[in-house]
Amino acid sequence: MGASLTTEEAKGASNIGHQKMVPQNHPSQPHIGSMGEYFRMHAESINNPAKFWGNVARELIKWSSDFDAVQYGSLDKGNISWFLGGKLNACVNCVDRHALKYPDRYAIIHETDDGDDPRSLTYIELLKQVSKMSWVLKDLGVRKGDVVSIYMPMIPEALVAILACARIGAVHSVIFAGFSSGSIKDRVVDSKSKIIITSDASCRGGKIIGLKKIVDEALADVHDLKTLVFKAGKIDVSWTEGRDYWWHEEVEKWPAYCPAESMDSEDPLFLLYTSGSTGKPKGILHTTGGYLVGAASTGKYVFDIHDNDRYFCGGDVGWITGHTYVVYAPLLLGISTVVFEGTPTFPTHSRYWEIIDKHRVTHFYVAPTALRLLKRAGSSPSSFKMEHLRVLGSVGEPIAPNIWKWYDEEVGKSRCHVVDTYWQTETGSHVITPLAGVTPTKPGAACLPFFGIDAAIVDPVTGQDIPEPNVDGVLVFKSSWPSMARTILGDHRRFQETYLSAYKGYYFTGDSASRDEDGYFWIRGRVDDVINVSGHRLTTAEIESSLIAHPAVAESAVVGVADEITGQAVVAFVSLKKQADMVLGDASLSHELKLHIRKSIGPFAAPKTIYVVIDLPKTRSGKIIRRILRKVTMGEADQLGDVSTLSDPSVVDEIIKVVQHKQ
Ligand code: ATP
Ligand code: MG
Repeated sequence: MGASLTTEEAKGASNIGHQKMVPQNHPSQPHIGSMGEYFRMHAESINNPAKFWGNVARELIKWSSDFDAVQYGSLDKGNISWFLGGKLNACVNCVDRHALKYPDRYAIIHETDDGDDPRSLTYIELLKQVSKMSWVLKDLGVRKGDVVSIYMPMIPEALVAILACARIGAVHSVIFAGFSSGSIKDRVVDSKSKIIITSDASCRGGKIIGLKKIVDEALADVHDLKTLVFKAGKIDVSWTEGRDYWWHEEVEKWPAYCPAESMDSEDPLFLLYTSGSTGKPKGILHTTGGYLVGAASTGKYVFDIHDNDRYFCGGDVGWITGHTYVVYAPLLLGISTVVFEGTPTFPTHSRYWEIIDKHRVTHFYVAPTALRLLKRAGSSPSSFKMEHLRVLGSVGEPIAPNIWKWYDEEVGKSRCHVVDTYWQTETGSHVITPLAGVTPTKPGAACLPFFGIDAAIVDPVTGQDIPEPNVDGVLVFKSSWPSMARTILGDHRRFQETYLSAYKGYYFTGDSASRDEDGYFWIRGRVDDVINVSGHRLTTAEIESSLIAHPAVAESAVVGVADEITGQAVVAFVSLKKQADMVLGDASLSHELKLHIRKSIGPFAAPKTIYVVIDLPKTRSGKIIRRILRKVTMGEADQLGDVSTLSDPSVVDEIIKVVQHKQ
């Protein structure tokens, strides 16, 4: 298979309307000069991956010993490896090489919850702290290949811990610091962690959360696991002698340089459990060389990162977005990354915009859920200058066109490039995305495949390619790419069954999508979230986008339920903007929203029932969990399964009440 786009599609793509690709405040020129160059590079990455990725890997990554072969294995066999025989160290790539070149440049710009007492670190300071922590971990018995769990707030020390693991060849497994003790226990046991690094407490949105206490509960009947505790000094903690160690006492014992372990390209770098939108979390394993090449190349080309940029990703290190785009991509490229401990709404709804102005941020990257929240709350980014901003990224969910436009116009003042980046924990780095400064965008489209991604839309039943434009199907990738996950820890069979067997020889994303006449990809949502009403295939994303375009609606989630006449029917859940609940009664609002959908999509898409709820069930990363809504609608509220990954489990009871009341 050649490049994913035909020449006709390529021509179409370079003629798309939204033409303000190179922002005026660009420091020089984008790394890629034109769409023509993108198409040439993409074709080469697919047709001659050895040459393409060999060059990229040698340009962006420092190898202590060059690789012998670029790629080996096939999706079919599930034995993928990249840069075979190459030796490198992830921490050296992120820290040492920059610390030698520009020691005084900020690596980490720290922003605390209340904005006071930041602990920002230059590259040389980061090298010292990481070195000391590396000694500490070794002293506590951590060896190459051991798993270290990290349960920490968004503070510089979380990055120090991650990088120290990488330095000594330990495998980091970051657990989002909002998870309960039960979720921590599952993860430390599944990963056979040797130690868990935590903090006495975190401070977010003005609230203090006792992390060490939650870890203590998690470890109540887990033995032989040590804890290393960073002291934020917020609260007192209980102490188990012989098991618990203070971070500050241990680091004092060690010198400021620790040599780095030489790792094989295919040695594991980290383990990360997926967010659980579709059920039980899986321990996704990423290896070193390929992952770093994916992180660095997407940083360079998708975000168009240049020297001296200041990059702010609002994602948490507990998710893949935090791994690849708070830690690895910016540090691999030697720029400054903002580490924000607080929330976008504390003390005001302008917190993000203040940080962007204060630190002269050039790149901002966040999930649509945060943008919806801020828009709903009436945040006004327009009163902030944000003059250095060049690139605005979106990640994690489809972004509805009206939110995209708000982001573009209000936050970006219509002079930034908005990149809607589609990817997954399993893909390691962006896979379908515009390239900042280059790709003409369309609000709501994730645009075009990144280098090395041979993307196709296939029929869900036959697995055959769907060549026609604008037909929904399943999104698959036909060949491997450097940063793809290698396995699910301890369960390679599940890895192959989940990702590599559904459509033989292809990587199955689990998401449905379509491709338009310009070859642009539109991600619709999970395959399970496609609703078939009287033979019309509708996706939750398009109905939801339409609902939130109504002025009263803040958020919405749509599910399909069995219907005798139409096969499936649409049921919608909406939460309202603050002002709206007072103005509109439930019944008239439902009627109005149904009319709104009939007009904007078509009569067949009109929801059979609309429930007005206070909030929607979401994962801790902010994604709506439709599985729960489906069960509640079907009267199976007693079979909700694992709700431990919900950000606010009480929402579910409220929803059950609303649904039962109406049924
Ligand atoms: P689990 O796999 O446990 O159900 P999850 O899929 O939510 O959890 P992630 O790997 O964090 O965990 O999320 C990847 C998913 O997020 C994608 O498969 C897709 O459904 C969605 N997604 C990510 N980015 C985008 C985007 N730009 N547009 C549309 N959907 C996106
Ligand atoms: Mg997933």
